[in-house]
Amino acid sequence: MSNTNVPVAGRIAGLTAQGLYNKCLALAGNLWWTWHPEVIEVFRSLDPIRWRQLGHNPIALLREFTPERLEIRAAELVLYTRIDQAYRRMNAYMNTKTPWAKRNVGVLGSQPVAYFSLEFGVHESVPIYSGGLGVLSGDHIKSASGLGVPLVAVGLFYNQGYFKQQLDVDGWQQEEYLDTAVENLPLELPVTPKGEKIMVSVETRTGTIYAKVRQINVGRVRLLLLDTDLDQNTPEDRKLTSRLYGGNNRTRIRQEIVSGIGGVRALKALGITPGVYHLNEGHNAFATLEAVRQRMKEDGVTFAEASSDIAQKTVFTTHTPVPAGHDRFDSQLVEEHLGPLRDQIGIDHSHLMSLGRIDTSNHNETFCMTVLGLKMSRYANAVASLHGVVSRRMWHCLWPQLPEEKVPIGHITNGVHVPSWMAWQINTLFERHLPPSWSQDSYSPDEWEAVQGIDYGELWETHSALKNLLVAFIRRRLSRQYRRRGEPDDAIDQARTVLDPQILTIGFGRRFATYKRATLVLNQIDRMARICNDADRPVQFVFAGKAHPADTPGKEFIQTIANLRKTPQFANRFVFVEDYDINVCRHMVQGVDVWLNNPRRPLEASGTSGMKAVLNGALNLSILDGWWAEAYDGTNGFAISNGTSHADDKITDERDAASLFDVIENEVVPLYYDIDEHGLPTRWIRRMMNSISSLAWRFSSHRMVADYTTEAYLPAAGGTSCKVER
Ligand SMILES: *Cc1c(COP(=O)(O)O)cnc(C)c1O
Repeated sequence: MSNTNVPVAGRIAGLTAQGLYNKCLALAGNLWWTWHPEVIEVFRSLDPIRWRQLGHNPIALLREFTPERLEIRAAELVLYTRIDQAYRRMNAYMNTKTPWAKRNVGVLGSQPVAYFSLEFGVHESVPIYSGGLGVLSGDHIKSASGLGVPLVAVGLFYNQGYFKQQLDVDGWQQEEYLDTAVENLPLELPVTPKGEKIMVSVETRTGTIYAKVRQINVGRVRLLLLDTDLDQNTPEDRKLTSRLYGGNNRTRIRQEIVSGIGGVRALKALGITPGVYHLNEGHNAFATLEAVRQRMKEDGVTFAEASSDIAQKTVFTTHTPVPAGHDRFDSQLVEEHLGPLRDQIGIDHSHLMSLGRIDTSNHNETFCMTVLGLKMSRYANAVASLHGVVSRRMWHCLWPQLPEEKVPIGHITNGVHVPSWMAWQINTLFERHLPPSWSQDSYSPDEWEAVQGIDYGELWETHSALKNLLVAFIRRRLSRQYRRRGEPDDAIDQARTVLDPQILTIGFGRRFATYKRATLVLNQIDRMARICNDADRPVQFVFAGKAHPADTPGKEFIQTIANLRKTPQFANRFVFVEDYDINVCRHMVQGVDVWLNNPRRPLEASGTSGMKAVLNGALNLSILDGWWAEAYDGTNGFAISNGTSHADDKITDERDAASLFDVIENEVVPLYYDIDEHGLPTRWIRRMMNSISSLAWRFSSHRMVADYTTEAYLPAAGGTSCKVER
């Protein structure tokens, strides 16, 4: 070994260069590192510039090092013990049963939850998500890992993922799909208990689709990803799983039979017998039909018996009241893709169609995946309290004999993974001030209450440092954006100095779906110009978000916001950051003062980015919709309007805009700029503390997964009663 004659500082006895390299690879090979800042810092410090250029991907970074160079770098930076400790911590984490699990998981021990989702947002370096639904799935499995809930996740592997967003000189969104460097992802090929690789197939009337199964480890959770990029497939099907939400309805149903039916087959092939099927959104509801088929075949029971049995084990979560969010397939597509499975379970076409129809006698009705999910699950839930009310109204048609409030759809409010979204600087501050029993993972209110005792100056200083980082991040991104599209030098110069870290900063980052009304802040444009340019108390805005490629009105919203920089009164006050993803979101929620959300009520089922803002001390300024309708208490943020909507959208928009402007002018701005004799906005800081202590624990994904476990998973696995009876 080359290192025998090199004196290496801090080297650990017996650890060779190759041994060190292997430990780093092992750390990079489990996405556990993504919520451990001390491990991220090890990777980053090896080469900060390449780390950024490589999209925060440690495998790609390690490829640029030989073991010998890594050893020298580790010696320079005195990383030996840190790498060694991180490695030991990860192994300890992987091999210990959590106290929570010992007390709570009971019957799930031998029969895990199979969690199906079409997207998983675990980290920006693994591009198999588009937005909120994916990030929620990612946070769900991280918390399942943290709590020790036995869970196997199932989805698709997209080798292009979702599109990259760039704007052209006119501010118009351009979509680009890039091939993912698959060799730089922590992918494994899972094997059967006998050590064999597996392949799954799904028959259709027009041929068989094959998929290989890949695996990514997310802490203790295995994430299985089906990939159709195989020689056995037709050229069309090889590309079937290339793009998330790409293609037409036929692509979509084919993706959904692969993830749903193929997913259940993959579990079976791997010797995994799920005790619970959790369908995260309707996309994967075909999984229930395959589970029924297996049950009929193995136990010789009828379709009716098997489907009632599988429904007992199935938990279904609906995520949106927006119609476009519910897949519908016509009769022909269903027959082509479900025909062979239907033959095996012995039901005729109209029976199958009836499982996806509201009015089973209406032969013109298309097949709705949400209806299938609702009919094939014993426990169904919405993702916030208000969304529960809306969903019960929306799906009352399936239970016309029941009063609306008895429609069997409950709710479990979403949450976010605290260690992934809380800035380490905030975490360090809390660790110094909060009782030793406090941890980021805690979802007990008492422990968070102590946030109120933190020194005001320190909290403000920490927040200000994060805001400075955000401004630096935006300047870097904007100059890169402008340079790439050939903007003139003065535009690039402007980008280098844009925004002022002293100014009240309002952030807005989310999909540009029109119901989210990104342009509501421009509803009274002159008033906004006055607000932004007030000599003593100015305001600036940071926007980011993608519009669906087919959503022209959404792209127009982006264009309107992005082009504000070309008008003198907004040039330095509105920025649009391209290519919103987990990384951009993290910077924004950690650095802004205010997080704005103004959807048309009640269309925002939950919303989760505001919860991420809470963890970092940003104050929410939001319509009383989704999670905010149950979170806002008058002291922990700001509310726009009073939680009512007019039947005419135009009137609602006018009213909400008027309220938004009033709240900014009369509440947000005066509070932020009310500086005491020590130079601190004390009343603002108090509200930050109220926000963190009243909300962080409630809207954490540990609380969410604990709720799913006790209210849905355990009853489903054990057959005992649950909150909502059918
Ligand atoms: C959290 C998150 C979202 C969800 O934001 P909403 O407020 O729920 O719309 C979307 N995209 C990314 C990248 C996120 O991290």
